[in-house]
Amino acid sequence: MPYGCLTDEEDRCLDHVISSCLPLYVTMAAMIAEETHRAELLDGRIAADAIKREVAAEIAALKSEHKVTPRLAAVIVGDDPASAVYVRNKIRACAEVGIASEHLPMPAATTTRELLDVVRRLNENDDVDGILVQLPLPKQIAEVEIIEAIAPAKDVDAFHPTNVGLLALGRPRFVPCTPAGIIELLDRNEIPIAGANACVIGRSQIVGKPIASLLLQRHATVTICHSKTRDLPAITRQADILIAAIGRPAYVTGEFIKRGAVVVDVGVNRVTDPAKAREFFGIEAEPRIEAIEKKGYTLIGDVHPAEADRVAGKRTPVPGGVGLLTVAMLMKNTLQAAKSRREL
Ligand code: NAP
Repeated sequence: MPYGCLTDEEDRCLDHVISSCLPLYVTMAAMIAEETHRAELLDGRIAADAIKREVAAEIAALKSEHKVTPRLAAVIVGDDPASAVYVRNKIRACAEVGIASEHLPMPAATTTRELLDVVRRLNENDDVDGILVQLPLPKQIAEVEIIEAIAPAKDVDAFHPTNVGLLALGRPRFVPCTPAGIIELLDRNEIPIAGANACVIGRSQIVGKPIASLLLQRHATVTICHSKTRDLPAITRQADILIAAIGRPAYVTGEFIKRGAVVVDVGVNRVTDPAKAREFFGIEAEPRIEAIEKKGYTLIGDVHPAEADRVAGKRTPVPGGVGLLTVAMLMKNTLQAAKSRREL
């Protein structure tokens, strides 16, 4: 390549310098891009607010056209602080969208029989459209018996075997709130599901299995991983959509994530150690450390946020991600229960 004012020898020399340094420049540019890359946040609030607005509009129409106000009964047993926050958020959302709600707190020593009596009363009460029994229940209560006692038509959490079966058959009456919320989040952010490699870490009844089923019904190629999966990162790195529902703080680090993948973080865990918060949140650690100083903890998901930010294309934050959609979908299920019980 001639450089005009240079001699042939200088030209050759310059060519040599450029061609030998080029790989280094390219590597440096890639390193800088990697350092400055940040995953786009999938804001749960935007999608959740949109869903709640749609639900509120339908409820207003239901009230004016049919004089029907959907009603949700929320039963909470014991004084688990996290459960108390979840139930409070659900009751608050009811008020936002126009659902009437009943908050039924029960003592920690409640027996299976006592809770069954409450569930049966709610089943028989025609004014109640949706029944929610906040999980987990204290150890002395037979959780399965309680879930199976809830009338399937009022089972807005969709945990009853009838509703689980209908979902598995691909003709759901209710879809469990967290998995339904994840699908809404993907759809409303125009993330293609059909044909995508989707990987779900976790196989619980309330998150892992139903989200895997929904993704499969939407034509993703789905892999389900769990605590016995061998070489987990090698499998999760194949995923275009990675769903983490494990219950282990910041477990999913950069090596689990394919570059550019969409990472949905379902986990809700507490971090109490400021040094851990600094490691997990990187440049965004300060407000988290302040939260630990103020209330003793900060929330983190199953995904390591600082590492995911460097590799993922998009990721959901914790808090502010999937949890908000879970509540919004509970509102949607309660509205649906009110309509279908009256064949509207
Ligand atoms: P879970 O019932 O405890 O199930 C955890 C799953 O993760 C199990 O299938 C377990 O495998 C798997 N697992 C555990 N350690 C693992 C490891 N090292 N490698 C691979 N897999 C592992 O939990 P869950 O109810 O699904 O909840 C998961 C998380 O989501 C929790 O943090 C929970 O608080 C949160 N959550 C959030 C929302 C929300 O609205 N944001 C809703 C529900 C749950 P095995 O089956 O082999 O034991």
